[in-house]
Amino acid sequence: TQYVYRFGGGVSDGGNGDKNLLGGKGANLDGMASIGLPVPPGFTISTPMCTVYYEQGGVFPDSLRAEVANGIAHIEGITGKKFGVAADPLLVSVRSGARASMPGMMDTVLNLGLNDDTVDGLAAISGDARFAWDSYRRFIQMYSDVVLELDHGRFEEALEIAKEDRGYTLDTEMTADDWRTLVAEYKALVVELWDGKQFPQDVHDQLWGAIGAVFGSWQSERAKVYRRLNDIPAEWGTAVNVQAMVFGNMGDTSATGVAFTRDPAKGDNAYYGEFLINAQGEDVVAGIRTPQYLTRAARETAGAKPLSMEEAMPEVYGQLARVFDLLERHYRDMQDIEFTVERGKLWMLQTRAGKRTAKAALKIAVDMANEGLITREEAILRVDPQALDQLLHPTLDPNAARDVLTKGLPASPGAASGKVVFDADTAEKANAAGESVILVRVETSPEDIHGMHAARGILTARGGMTSHAAVVARGMGRPCVSGAGTLSIIAKEKLFRIGSREVREGDIITIDGATGEVMLGAVPTVQPELAGDFGTLMVWADEGRRLKVRTNAETPLDCRTARDFGAEGIGLCRTEHMFFDAARITAVRQMILAEDEAGRRIALDKLLPEQRRDFVEIFEVMAGLPCTIRLLDPPLHEFLPHEESEFAEVAQAAGLDVETLKRRAAELHEFNPMLGHRGCRLGVTYPEIYEMQARAIFEAAVLVAEKSGDAPIPEVMIPLVATRRELELMKAVVDKAAQTVFAEQGRTIEYLVGTMIELPRAALRAAEIAEVGEFFSFGTNDLTQTTLGVSRDDAGRFLTTYVEKGIYAKDPFVSIDVEGVGELISLAAERGRSTRPDIKLGICGEHGGDPASIAFCESVGLDYVSASPYRVPIARLAAAQAAL
Ligand code: PEP
Ligand code: MG
Repeated sequence: TQYVYRFGGGVSDGGNGDKNLLGGKGANLDGMASIGLPVPPGFTISTPMCTVYYEQGGVFPDSLRAEVANGIAHIEGITGKKFGVAADPLLVSVRSGARASMPGMMDTVLNLGLNDDTVDGLAAISGDARFAWDSYRRFIQMYSDVVLELDHGRFEEALEIAKEDRGYTLDTEMTADDWRTLVAEYKALVVELWDGKQFPQDVHDQLWGAIGAVFGSWQSERAKVYRRLNDIPAEWGTAVNVQAMVFGNMGDTSATGVAFTRDPAKGDNAYYGEFLINAQGEDVVAGIRTPQYLTRAARETAGAKPLSMEEAMPEVYGQLARVFDLLERHYRDMQDIEFTVERGKLWMLQTRAGKRTAKAALKIAVDMANEGLITREEAILRVDPQALDQLLHPTLDPNAARDVLTKGLPASPGAASGKVVFDADTAEKANAAGESVILVRVETSPEDIHGMHAARGILTARGGMTSHAAVVARGMGRPCVSGAGTLSIIAKEKLFRIGSREVREGDIITIDGATGEVMLGAVPTVQPELAGDFGTLMVWADEGRRLKVRTNAETPLDCRTARDFGAEGIGLCRTEHMFFDAARITAVRQMILAEDEAGRRIALDKLLPEQRRDFVEIFEVMAGLPCTIRLLDPPLHEFLPHEESEFAEVAQAAGLDVETLKRRAAELHEFNPMLGHRGCRLGVTYPEIYEMQARAIFEAAVLVAEKSGDAPIPEVMIPLVATRRELELMKAVVDKAAQTVFAEQGRTIEYLVGTMIELPRAALRAAEIAEVGEFFSFGTNDLTQTTLGVSRDDAGRFLTTYVEKGIYAKDPFVSIDVEGVGELISLAAERGRSTRPDIKLGICGEHGGDPASIAFCESVGLDYVSASPYRVPIARLAAAQAAL
């Protein structure tokens, strides 16, 4: 097997890049080489080697030695430099590159190939001894950290002391001799920290050490966390890219930068990026020096002084702009690029599809389709439905009062309020306790990932728009303000100061990731704008989808929101939510506590007008659309008090003595309520409850039809059916109520009676159940619970472990268990259709708003999915993607 693929200098062994084989970075380097862009020559060790390396317990097969030697020879041939030869030494970078981008998660070694001999060669060739010694010390520092895993802090400390002793504040003040002295100290440090061993002088030892470390970093803790959060399988492995170094720190005609071909925050079609003159790539990303703007327009908008690249290096900037356009046309997507200018020559180090906010993803997809760069179908596929969430949620009310503390960079849009915390662990704990927090850091590093995930927003004192915090926050959809330079964090005292003002841990602040503002207190928010690009993409999605999208809603407000988001009806109205209403709970309790049917009917009569009013309001919003109303589902004791303190009050309201109330509550107690007296079992034992509900539905429907002329189409749904007979009995109750109401009102309304499929038995017996029921709605919350035998209320305690151990790929209550629950659904659909070919099929469990589950629903040919109001647009887009 071949493991090494060369690129550069007219060679592209990978033939324009296979990501699975070469990893994202390797594939793109290969791709850039194949279209003739200036890529420093190098080679990629493919991802299968990562697996081989782990399988063999951290050793490489012998055949790899020859392949790597061949790769080095390729670089030497093109650059004319020699690896480990002082006269004209070749230096290389060694970087990871997984299939999916994992920014900052894995290790990188730069300047590899320097030793006590070659450092002099580099000084001679470059004519810059200071640069050569600086590179050597950077190399020792990085190698010691990443490969030898020695205490990073000791090297930092030595550098700080060196500067202090000489009265310097900046690294740039260090001279060649100063760096040389520091190199000697670093080497001594290595001996001290590395059990007496010397820093490796053999460049081949250096190379193999670095290759091993990069493969090793695939299993680092932070890489594992990142993979878990982003659903990246461990088997994918990483590739290793070895590439000739080019230097952005060779004086004022050299530079390094990162850029996006379009604005990754807003999506505007304008180059966007940052660069630093006389610097190496890590300087930009680490946020140690504040970078300069790429374009003049951006610099002017920001009112910044240091010249933009367009102004400072107009010629190279012109080349770069042409490369951007070539890349966008080649990859047909927005690109995230790293480049270096070495003494006036432009080198492309990396390109990849750029991470972007949901807003930018939407705008870029719509713009690119309008520009003819991609098709509308591709535009639909380009937007992650889940990411729409970011756009559907509120932003800060522009008219609300704001107490602005300071302003940083608008690194990731959205607004968030929460309590200030200063470290990732605290953020995680507070979030687990249900608190909203803002994570405040000097800058973030990959170790902070879990805290960033737990926080509502992220605020940093340092770092630019492409800093770690900014990139990761955008990817996660967290609002972020970065580089708020006036912020001084005193971590020890758990506070930060801005001028004379002080904010302590636990104080509430608000950040606005769209403006960069940081405010004291919680600022109110407003609803998002749903027209524009969002509206355009939704129209395209609606043209492309087959599945209808309904909503799970039971209040007029939720129904309105869902309609605005494009819902085409109600897929689930849970009527018990109306029973919990404070104004009605007394009547509900009277009904429950009644000793006999007559008593129950008295209470139900009080509830009837209330229920009718609810349905009128809902039907008015949903005029002309199908509305699935589910009859009462939860066990009755859920409506009774549980706290000792409540009994007296409730007893009085219900006109009973406390003892009777307690006795009745005790009688209703169940050991396993989820499998107890609930669902249609309530209707079977107390048919008058379902009778009242059905009557309320039909009276409301007639009223609305009369008033508006646009009758709703009620679909009365019976929950938790296991047998045909149950449904038969309940359908008779509903039909009788309908006939009574229609006779009383002198008007008939079209309606359906159907059932939920929530129990395996119902799925298995679907053929006979469909002889009675006119529709099925898959209640996948209960169906998952009953199929897996996992309580939906208790699963949290162990399901994460199950997912971590790969027992279930994803939480089965979030994304449908296709193999198990999915098989029951497709079987029930098939059997249902066998006796009722036109049976209406839908899904109303939480899965109805999950894109992967929606794809499954498309594959079994359901008629609709139903999702909570805010997930309706997500479902519309996911349904279109599933159909394409
Ligand atoms: C279901 O079980 O999937 C369902 C929609 O009903 P509920 O969540 O109300 O039990
Ligand atoms: Mg259910």
